[in-house]
Order: sequence, then structure tokens, then C-alpha cells
Amino acid sequence: MTEEALLILADVALDCPGRDAFSYLVPEELRPKLQVGDAVQVPFGRRVQQGFVIAIREAPKPEYTVRPIEKRLDHVHLPAPLIRLIRWAASYYRCSLGTFLSAAVPTAVRDATALKKLRFIRKDEAFDGKLTKRQQQVWEQLPIEQITFADGCKKTGCSAGVLDRLIESGAVSLTVDDSVQEHVLNVAQENHALTDEQQVAFDAVSARLDDGGNETFMLYGVTGSGKTLVYMDLVDQVIAAGQQTLLLLPEIALTPQLAARFRGRFERVVVWHSQFTAGERHKQWQDVRAGKVDLVIGTRSALFAPLTNIGLIIVDEEHEHSYKQDSTPRYQGRDLAIMYGVQCDVPVVLGSATPSCETIKNARDGKFSVLTLRKRPAGGSLPTPIVVDMREECQEQKKQVTVSRALIEHITRAKKRGKQSIVLLNRRGWSPIVHCASCGHSLSCEACDVSLTWHKGPQLLRCHYCGHEGGLPKVCPACSQPALTTKGMGTEQLCHALSKEIEGLRVLRLDADTVSKRQGHAQLLSAFGDREYDCLVGTQMVAKGLNFPNVTVVGVVAADHGLAQPDFRAAERTFQLIAQVAGRAGRGKDAGTVIVQAFDPEAPALFCALRIKPKTFYNGELELRERYGYPPYTGLIRIVWRGEKLQEVESLALEQGQRLQACAENLPILGPGPAGIAFLKGQHRWHALIKAGSRGAAQAFLARLHEAGGLPERRGVKIMTDVDPYAFS
Ligand code: ADP
Ligand code: ZN
Repeated sequence: MTEEALLILADVALDCPGRDAFSYLVPEELRPKLQVGDAVQVPFGRRVQQGFVIAIREAPKPEYTVRPIEKRLDHVHLPAPLIRLIRWAASYYRCSLGTFLSAAVPTAVRDATALKKLRFIRKDEAFDGKLTKRQQQVWEQLPIEQITFADGCKKTGCSAGVLDRLIESGAVSLTVDDSVQEHVLNVAQENHALTDEQQVAFDAVSARLDDGGNETFMLYGVTGSGKTLVYMDLVDQVIAAGQQTLLLLPEIALTPQLAARFRGRFERVVVWHSQFTAGERHKQWQDVRAGKVDLVIGTRSALFAPLTNIGLIIVDEEHEHSYKQDSTPRYQGRDLAIMYGVQCDVPVVLGSATPSCETIKNARDGKFSVLTLRKRPAGGSLPTPIVVDMREECQEQKKQVTVSRALIEHITRAKKRGKQSIVLLNRRGWSPIVHCASCGHSLSCEACDVSLTWHKGPQLLRCHYCGHEGGLPKVCPACSQPALTTKGMGTEQLCHALSKEIEGLRVLRLDADTVSKRQGHAQLLSAFGDREYDCLVGTQMVAKGLNFPNVTVVGVVAADHGLAQPDFRAAERTFQLIAQVAGRAGRGKDAGTVIVQAFDPEAPALFCALRIKPKTFYNGELELRERYGYPPYTGLIRIVWRGEKLQEVESLALEQGQRLQACAENLPILGPGPAGIAFLKGQHRWHALIKAGSRGAAQAFLARLHEAGGLPERRGVKIMTDVDPYAFS
């Protein structure tokens, strides 16, 4: 028998849908150092691609030709726990491993050349060391302010070498992209002693940290109950044990205060989100990877920070839907965090004042341990709610009313006493509808099946789905009458109405239109915090994480607006939004008031949020979910087909609908049929919803579907598979 020489092969995950890994030869020189988790560059077809080594093995020469790895990217190596997490996630969310990995590790990190472009230099004006004549010349030509390395060469006409030497000699300093400094909020350091309740919560998690092992806690604490202080003391303990904490927040931009509070107490903190520049992200990644960080605070993508020694995972505001990513890979950050805790064998804390129905059910089933905070340690009681039935209000005032008398009165009174108010209206722009008073036609987007919103400030009609903008036509496009009028109210109009009704009221608007630049939120919020305004009006942004002790009045306009959404979570969402925004009032010594305007004030979601009867709400809601077969009692999968030609979309959806049926084994399938928004960004959309008895059953269905050939795309039609969907229209 001839002895066959064995080859060393590496399985490399590449960003390529449908297949997890491809085999490559490990060249001689890489053999001693190449490891699982390394980023490499490999030939793929006629191109070169970056990917990650997920296995290294000895094998006989395969029948196909294997090409060698071109090079190893020395600066990127994924820790083993992270690879394990992403492997699980890729399989669960039906995304190829390589695609998931490349989404998890930002291009900025993999691509070292991005860094060079983002190097900044600044000349040291006080420098008085020795320079060559040429160096001196260049040094003098450099401007005083910071510029990029490349601009430095351009401005002075020197080579990179000259600048390099100036940097070496100290005449010029080099920084790797810190061009955009974060707007740091000033917060006092928090070191309060824990209250009894907080102590009980802390002790439970602390004991688990001491003993080791995984346990998931639901930290159910009313708004203002001091969950953050519990987190902080836990972080302390984890640091003392030489380990790291991962703290997830729904949206960093909306919670600058919280990040600032942690920064106020801990030093080796990294704030991690996708809005940083390439250079910043690269630096953060390297710092975390090198173990220079004790605490990573970030949005869902922070799950993929390359932590090597995780001791604790915290998910704050665990009920927030922004934990679900709405593009591939469509993972749920909270759910992945729970799995990460299991895999790393560490505790997970899920904090919320309004937990998700999923978490409540897990707690009731005994899967999660329950910790409760009922009191507000800083004083301040939960506000008294006043409900305004807008049907009656309109009748009594004999006109179309937008802002009720009660709301105006309370905001006015607060202002007189030097107090502030917050008003929530979850709709931006001036009016959500522009229609023709003559023929009834309403203006909709050309590319989407949705109505256009009128923005009065910039005098533009905007589509909030595709971003399309246009001017207001003079006449109705349908009947040519000059009879176009607006209908309904958005935040822009509400601000106008409030300033008109209340003399001298200084109103600040906080929504996606007033916040554009990276630091916009933080700046607007600190202006409000500094009492430059009396009233903050905004979309759901104002409901989140804010802690302004001077706010005594909270208003909610069109509170039942969200209940009309075709989404089984609509009631839960409304309940949470109202309870959260109501929790912004009365954070200080003065009692707070909440005024809620609704057309259907008896809707359970409103009623329970306002009467502070969460148990009643969860009981009723869970019962409905069970009866109608929705999560947390089932596992859902949504399939969306989309394309430019309706005919193609429809025929593929119907055809593949049969395959879904064939694999369903009696699971109910809704559709395929046209999606709620049947036309979006120029594409027709069809969808189907599979309701499996559990998430496990949903996975089993997907496995059967995969066996049967899956749902291959066809020319002109894209297919999306969403596991545990949060969007249904
Ligand atoms: P939550 O995150 O639960 O909404 P916070 O952590 O924002 O609540 O706490 C609300 C306020 O109570 C903060 O101003 C915080 O400093 C204060 N606070 C929290 N715990 C204590 C405590 N043990 N003693 C005094 N003040 C506290
Ligand atoms: Zn559009």
C-alpha cells in the first residue's frame, strides 16, 4: 500500500450565502501559527476574499483542487467563545456562518488599510528638537489643527517617509482617528448604598457569580427603581474577579445618560455601537481583544466584541424591539445574550420595568429567576394618571381638538413653577396624510404603498419608508383641483400647537428629523437637562432611559395610535411605551402627573399601563397569545418574497408555498399572500407565516425545508427568511 501524504487543510468561512465553509491548503509557512479564529485572505473564484478559519484538519488530498490560503491577517483573531456563539446563531437564524461572521466583525476591523486613511497628525508647536532642513520645511508648512496623514503629505508635498520621521522625532503627533470626540455628559459619580430591595437583587446574582455557572435573572424593577446601581455593583464584583462584563442597551444614541453614568464610575469602559468611524471601531476591537477593557457597553452588535473572559452579561431594557436586527443576519440580541450566558456558563441579567411577554413567561415557567424592585430610592412616587377621552373632548369643545385642555393646563402650571414636561407623540412630521378635499385622493409614495408625510419646516413631502422627498403639488394629481389639505398631527405640528396655546413655552423637538448628526441626541438632551427648554416633544425616543428630576408632567398624545398596527405585539408595545414614558415623570421630589389622550381609553394596554396593573396586563395578554397561537407559546417563521415584477413574485411565492406546506406536517401556515405593505421601495412583496408549536418545532420545520431543497431564489425575486420575526407588514 502506498502511503498517501496527508495535507493540512483549513475550513474557511466566507461571506457567501448557502454554504458555511470552503477548504483551503495551509501553506508551509503558515502551519506553525495558523489557528482557528484567524482571519485570512483566500482566492475565491477570480477574486480575493477575507474569511475566518473555523477548522484545521489533516486530510488526504481531495479530488477537487484546493488552493492555498494567501495570507493571514495578523491583527484579527476571534476568541473561541465568540466563534461558538456565532456558529449557534448562524444555524438558528439560517444564515451562512461566513455571512454572519462578516456581519459580526466590522470591515473596519478586518481591513487594516482603512486605518491608514484615518490616521491623524497634529504638529507639536512647542517642539524644539533637531530637524533636517527638509523636515523643518514640512513642519513649518503644516497647519496648527489636526489633519489626516494623507492631507499632511498633500499640503506640504512631502513623502510619507518624511512625515513618518517627523512623527518619530516627536515634532508631529499621530493619533488613530479620534476625530469625533464623544459628547460626554457630566454626571456625578454614583456610589449610593444599596436599598434593601437592591441588596436582595444584588446578592442573588452575586452569589451566582461566586459559585460560578449560568443562571438567567429577570430584574423586574419599576422605572427609577435603581436597576443601574445594581448593575454597577455587580460590575465591580466581576472586575474584582478579573473578568469582564458585557452590558447591552437597546440604542446607545438614545441613552447617553446611562453610558455616561458607567463612565463616571468605571475607567476601562468601551462604548460600542455601529455609529463609530472605522478607525474608532478598529481601536476598540483591538483594545477589547487585548483584554484592556473591563466593561463593554453597547447595542446588540456589542455581543460580538472579542471579549476573552466574560463573567457577566446584562441586557438592560430587555423588552425593547431594537434588540432584533432587521437586516441579515436577523438575530435577536437579547435571545443571543441568553444563549451566550449558557455557553460561557455565566449569569445573565435581563432588566426592565416592562418585561417582554417572552421573559415573563420564562420567569413564570421557572426558567428565569425573578428579582423585583418596587420602590424608587431617590424618592418620587409613580405618577397619577389622568386619561382624556378625546371623543368626549372633541364633543365638549365642539371642534377637532389636538391638545386637550387638561394637557395644556398641566404643562402651563408646571412651567409657572419652573418645572418641565415631556410629551410623546409617536409620529413625526407635520401631518401623516395629505389628501384632496374634493375627491378624497391621498398622496402616496411612488415607490411604496404608503402615504407621504408633510414636513412643513423644509416644505417637503417625505416617504418614511424609502426616504423619497418631493414638493407639495399645487393641485390634486387625481382630480386637478387645488384642494389638497393635511390630516392628522405629527410632532412638528404638536410643537407648533403647544407654543401657540401656551405663551412663552420653550419647546424642544426630539425625533429623527431634529436629530441627525452622531451627537445630536446627547446635545439636545443636555440642553433640556440644563433647563433651556420647558417642554420636550418627541417620538418614542423620549420614552427611553431619560432621567430628568425636574420633569413633573408627561403627556401622551394619540396613545392608542400604535394599537392599530397589524402585529400581535401591538398591545404589548403600547403598554410598554406608555408605562415607560409615564415613568419619566416625578423622578425628583415632586409628584408627577401623566396625561394620556386616547380615542379608546379602555383598551387593556392603556388601562393597565396607566393603572399600573402589569399583572393584569400580562395575564390577559399571555392568555390571548396562547389562544391564538403566538409567541411565547409558539415559534414563528416569516418568509418574504420581493421583486420588481409582481407576476414573478407572486408565482414564486405560490410555488414555494406548496413546498412550505409539504414540509409543514400540519403546522398552520398563513399565506403566501400580499404583505401588509405590498409595495415597498419599488418592489412588490408577498409573505407567509409559519406557526410552529415551539421554537424547537420551528427549527425542525426549517431543517425539513432545508432537506427538501430550501427556498432557492430565482432571477428577479429575493427571499428573506426571518426566524422569530418582529415585523409583519
Ligand atoms: P432605573 O434604571 O431602574 O430606571 P435608575 O438606576 O436610573 O433607575 O435610578 C433612579 C435614580 O435613583 C437615580 O438618580 C439613582 O442615582 C437613584 N438611586 C438608585 N439607587 C439608589 C440608592 N440606593 N440610594 C439613593 N439613590 C439611588
Ligand atoms: Zn417610499
